[in-house]
Amino acid sequence: MDIDVHDVEQRVGTGPLPPGTTVDELLQLAYEHAGRHREGAVADYIPILAAADPEAFGLCVVDVDGVVHEHGDTRIRFSIQSISKAFVYALVVEQLGHQRVLDVVGVNNTGLAFNSVVAIELNDGHPMNPMVNAGAIATTALMPGRSSADQWSAVRNGLSRFAGRDLEIDDEVYRSESGTNHRNRAIAQLLESYGRIERDPADVVDVYTRQCALAVDARDLAVMGATLADGGVNPITGDQVVSAETCRDTLAVLASNGLYESSGEWLFEIGLPGKSGVAGGLVTVAPGKAGVGAYAPRLDAAGNSVRGQIATAYLSRALGLNIFASAARQSTRISATTAERSGS
Ligand code: GLU
Repeated sequence: MDIDVHDVEQRVGTGPLPPGTTVDELLQLAYEHAGRHREGAVADYIPILAAADPEAFGLCVVDVDGVVHEHGDTRIRFSIQSISKAFVYALVVEQLGHQRVLDVVGVNNTGLAFNSVVAIELNDGHPMNPMVNAGAIATTALMPGRSSADQWSAVRNGLSRFAGRDLEIDDEVYRSESGTNHRNRAIAQLLESYGRIERDPADVVDVYTRQCALAVDARDLAVMGATLADGGVNPITGDQVVSAETCRDTLAVLASNGLYESSGEWLFEIGLPGKSGVAGGLVTVAPGKAGVGAYAPRLDAAGNSVRGQIATAYLSRALGLNIFASAARQSTRISATTAERSGS
């Protein structure tokens, strides 16, 4: 059904972060708190990922004024993996529009694993949402371009604008995943059999595998998140990468689907849109305030960075980022009135 509110003015009700020194202090506390955790395991289903240092940990906040706060291993490079899905989705929505991508890809949670084939079959070949592999592959297939080389160049260029620097592919990761991504190739063929992708499935999976192998660090993720937090303007370069409407759509998708099968728990605990990847990256967006980038490769059972989630949860509380939190205006007024009456 068409939720017909397109002409209603979108109001924005967000405020800034606390002062910079407070952010620095809280970032350090969040880092120390999360750094005590050693549970979880480094991913190994893409063979090269198993080589990551399990102790590596970087945490970075970039606010919408472009101020960078960072702690730990924020310059260690790792493959962006599934986090690329969020930004490729934004680029495709920007080009094709809200409705077309909604019709082709959808936005609903599958409740099943990110690489589920069953989810496609259960939903008449519909890829469901752009954060699971089926939906991400269908989204990459929509990227405008005459050839897959054009599509890849648009993806790399677009993600680089989000990061504010030229992102390069990690060749070892690309080769490792290309040699083992039989399941993604099967997903693309299944989508083709349902008429959901119109390009050659092998080419589409190749572009998707490349986008997942782009090398980033925790600071890049924070800048990319801050761009989504800032109505699509990269706060470091000033580049308007996508529109504010596209950011809003992207963040709604992340809020419901960004952390694999634990997306509901994440939203409940952290109250912010985010996206994780199997190499241990995590990007979180506080709309109108900041982006948070984390890297720590030990993952929980759902595939999300353990330290990344804990540090972000800490920051969400300490910095007042949870989008569902409010303070009662009424109680402020009542206590003010009571204070007046008592003459204090
Ligand atoms: N390239 C990975 C895959 O398609 C991404 C997985 C992830 O980060 O969730 O399996």
